[in-house]
Amino acid sequence: MEQFQEERLFGATRTITQMQELIDITIEYTRDRVAFGKPLLDNQWIHYHLTEMSADVQALRSMTYDAVARYVRGEDVKLMTTQAKLLVGRLVRKIPDWCLQFWGRADFLWESRVSRMLRDSRLLAIGGGANEVQMAIICKELGILPGGRK
Ligand SMILES: Cc1cc2nc3c(=O)[nH]c(=O)nc-3n(C[C@H](O)[C@H](O)[C@H](O)COP(=O)(O)OP(=O)(O)OC[C@H]3O[C@@H](n4cnc5c(N)ncnc54)[C@H](O)[C@@H]3O)c2cc1C
Repeated sequence: MEQFQEERLFGATRTITQMQELIDITIEYTRDRVAFGKPLLDNQWIHYHLTEMSADVQALRSMTYDAVARYVRGEDVKLMTTQAKLLVGRLVRKIPDWCLQFWGRADFLWESRVSRMLRDSRLLAIGGGANEVQMAIICKELGILPGGRK
């Protein structure tokens, strides 16, 4: 169980980088791709969505870095690492899905980078303990499971 703290922090950290790269290449692609006379990126729906995604990734990054710093100081970070694992498992389903939407047919092929992340990143919500299990751990840490306090 102790080893899971590192595994969950690792899962969050490496996936933050991947999600950030996906957002970055999607910004570049939608800036270059012209449809109906203007870059895709100039559609407010698209640049607002990219903004929200980058805010979500930044929030997760700050939380994860904070957990890592506390872990290195020897603090108990079970609650934070489990929360980060739950959030990354959710975010990594949302971001590749939206990015693929904006790439359209250009990255639809199974072998393409965005499609591949959409498929492979599903692991994050299952491996190392499924999201439902993370929620049970968080509830236990918060002392809100039925039947009593921590
Ligand atoms: C690609 C991949 C790589 C993996 N690599 C490794 C590895 O290297 N080492 C290793 O040890 N394991 C590895 N695993 C296994 C992984 O840890 C397990 O898949 C994970 O713990 C879930 O267990 P399970 O698959 O037996 O699902 P089950 O326990 O059968 O659960 C199936 C689903 O039911 C739901 N669920 C489960 N429990 C609850 C609950 N209490 N409340 C509500 N819902 C629940 C969840 O949605 C869960 O996904 C890997 C899995 C995958 C998919």
